[in-house]
Amino acid sequence: MRLVLLGPPGAGKGTQARALGALWHIPQIASGDLLRAAVYEGTELGREARTFMDRGQLVPDELVLKLIAERLTHRDAQAGFILDGFPRSVSQAEALAEMIGRKRWAIDKVVAVIVPDQEIVQRISGRRTCKGCNAMYHVKFEPPKIAGVCDKCGGELYQRADDVEATVRERLNVYETNTRPLLDHYRRLGLLAEVDGVGRTEEVAKRIIGALEGLLPASGTASKP
Ligand code: ADP
Repeated sequence: MRLVLLGPPGAGKGTQARALGALWHIPQIASGDLLRAAVYEGTELGREARTFMDRGQLVPDELVLKLIAERLTHRDAQAGFILDGFPRSVSQAEALAEMIGRKRWAIDKVVAVIVPDQEIVQRISGRRTCKGCNAMYHVKFEPPKIAGVCDKCGGELYQRADDVEATVRERLNVYETNTRPLLDHYRRLGLLAEVDGVGRTEEVAKRIIGALEGLLPASGTASKP
């Protein structure tokens, strides 16, 4: 299964990609996580990317493509993957098709997770991320058992620098301008499924699995689709 999850920031792509990846034993590959790791490590690429990320703007393709191409060479990605946050523009989608085409791979399906803007701002401004394992929580809707501490790994929870309201609005603008046209792009290719992203995490996961009918074994829960 080679899947792309599309959707505005805060649509729940990361949560879904991680859960489904664990279910199917394939990695979630999140461009935002790869970029934040580069920023944290202080690499030259990370330093360059950071100025764009803090402003809520897209990091130049060249940098993102480099990280994705490298990640796709890892052993765990050979049997499939779930891309989350990438591609984010038509140019990135074209670069992706070319990159994986060279490996004789193709994207099986693109699932767009649809969530209205008002809900997004509310979700993201309450979002907290684990420094250790990147798990996500919401101070109101999905609080950790102990405030500030990750249930899964005990790591410290923090608010991402770009999760403040003004930057969230800029990220939504960037989504409208650069990423929304991707829906049409993938619709034309016959790969797109749209899923309602409002509701409990498990309900949304079920809708995504429903949209993948035909690509998964009947139960949708097999370990290697
Ligand atoms: P979200 O989807 O909630 O906006 P991400 O973690 O996916 O969060 O992205 C955070 C930031 O990282 C983006 O605002 C952007 O600056 C940068 N980024 C992530 N993925 C890409 C990408 N594919 N292309 C360009 N920039 C990206």
